[in-house]
Amino acid sequence: MSEWKELTNFFRGRSFWMLHYCTGCGAMELPPTMTSRWDMERFGIIPMATPRQADILLVTGYLSLKSLKRLIYTYEQMHAPKWVLGFGSCTINGGVYWDSYNVIERLDKYLPVDLYIAGCMPRPEAILDSFKRLRELVEKGEAKGYEKYVKNYDWYKANQDRLFKRTKPVLQNPEEVTRSA
Ligand code: SF4
Repeated sequence: MSEWKELTNFFRGRSFWMLHYCTGCGAMELPPTMTSRWDMERFGIIPMATPRQADILLVTGYLSLKSLKRLIYTYEQMHAPKWVLGFGSCTINGGVYWDSYNVIERLDKYLPVDLYIAGCMPRPEAILDSFKRLRELVEKGEAKGYEKYVKNYDWYKANQDRLFKRTKPVLQNPEEVTRSA
């Protein structure tokens, strides 16, 4: 790795701008992590208002068919380099909702998860520890979920389409539109 790349990764790992997508009960542990008791900002982690400004997508719990769709739109609006953290058992295997007809069992089939935070719900210490681990991976240039997503886009897209039962393109062929006008 070049010196410039090393330096860039060093600073990237110390200025995580986080969009937290609060889908489940696990989000309850974020306020104490952000505020004075655990104060995540001292590690350079701050919450962001929009996906275009964020480089971390923290998914805090179970995902339904409806919320996963929004999550994918959100992820695709973020600029690379960007990283996804799956927070809680629900993102790993559906957690307590594993046999629900409407809950996603494994987030990494649809988006590239760089790190999972195990627990139901994970405590602030576990959250901060995961950010520390992510920082190490970023510094070594080993957190490359966003590259994996681009390289294996067909696989992710096929999983997404199968889940959402998308079979045909929504838009008509432009020539057919002109002919019928
Ligand atoms: S892992 Fe536990 S705390 Fe987190 S969303 Fe699932 S049920 Fe809730």
